[in-house]
Amino acid sequence: VKTIGVLTSGGDAPGMNATIRAVVRTALANGLKVKGIMRGYAGLLDEEIIDMDAKSVSDIINRGGTILYTARCPMFKEPEVQKKAADICKKNGIDGLVVIGGDGSFQGASRLAENGINTIGIPGTIDLDIACTDYTIGFDTAVNTAMEAIDKVRDTSTSHERCSIIEVMGREAGYIALWCGIANGAEEILTVEHYDGNEQRIIDSVLEKRKVGKKHHIIVNAEGIGDSYGLAQRIEAATGVEARATIIGHIQRGGNPTCKDRVYASTMGAKAVDLLIRGKTNRVIAYKNGEFVDFDIQEALAMKKELDPYLYSMAKKLSR
Ligand code: ATP
Repeated sequence: VKTIGVLTSGGDAPGMNATIRAVVRTALANGLKVKGIMRGYAGLLDEEIIDMDAKSVSDIINRGGTILYTARCPMFKEPEVQKKAADICKKNGIDGLVVIGGDGSFQGASRLAENGINTIGIPGTIDLDIACTDYTIGFDTAVNTAMEAIDKVRDTSTSHERCSIIEVMGREAGYIALWCGIANGAEEILTVEHYDGNEQRIIDSVLEKRKVGKKHHIIVNAEGIGDSYGLAQRIEAATGVEARATIIGHIQRGGNPTCKDRVYASTMGAKAVDLLIRGKTNRVIAYKNGEFVDFDIQEALAMKKELDPYLYSMAKKLSR
């Protein structure tokens, strides 16, 4: 490869900037050129392509978000659009491409690989819901942000002897809810993977915990279940215990990345460039069993992972 393009796609995640920086500087260190593609696949189709040098990525390792912006581009699923995008890469001299995003973005990357552009995916999402990897860029920061927010709610919840329902992000995956549930010592963790919709059990548990003298009752609810305000009202009506809902929301997507996110995101960026230099394509970088590895994109997309059953059952025991 001579020129590497880099783009961010799908939802943003803290640490993406650290990856962009690592891609740019690793490529430059190897005598390659780098082009930044703005706004994901949408920007690629609009030829929003900029030259990047070492200074273009100054002062960003500590910043959340993505300096390249991100977008969704539904029409990228069409084969003629994918071919057009590959032609635009070729026209701009881009013969290697790094795509930072989630599973949808990897599908797009794989299609570009089929169209002759050497492409490597990097898992960037706060949700941790990419099966091939135990780590995704942004999860560590997001879960720490949510944990700190829940600590704050807990202080006031205890003072007022309330039940607090705190909704964290994760439309389809309960990793943030599970990790916060454990880290914040929640009485209840509701995830799309495990919640059976049995509100009576939650109500009984609130009453039971009151009887044994608990001053608060923290319920961490995943976005995918939602209806936190409704749940609070129903718990209050059924138990007489004052209940309040807090939706933490997009705060979880931003902020300065944690040390782990900066280091892992940098490593993944550097590894992606190493793979391109070695002539690899259609691969995704992953962190598995304590090591950085890479998989064929289609193989990675076919993998499945479960919301840690051990952590989930442990959380239940610890919340007594
Ligand atoms: P996140 O899970 O954080 O939202 P994601 O990468 O999974 O990230 P998507 O919105 O699913 O987010 O995908 C991002 C973009 O990737 C889409 O807008 C589209 O341009 C492209 N994409 C998604 N699915 C496909 C597909 N099957 N074929 C080609 N391109 C796709």
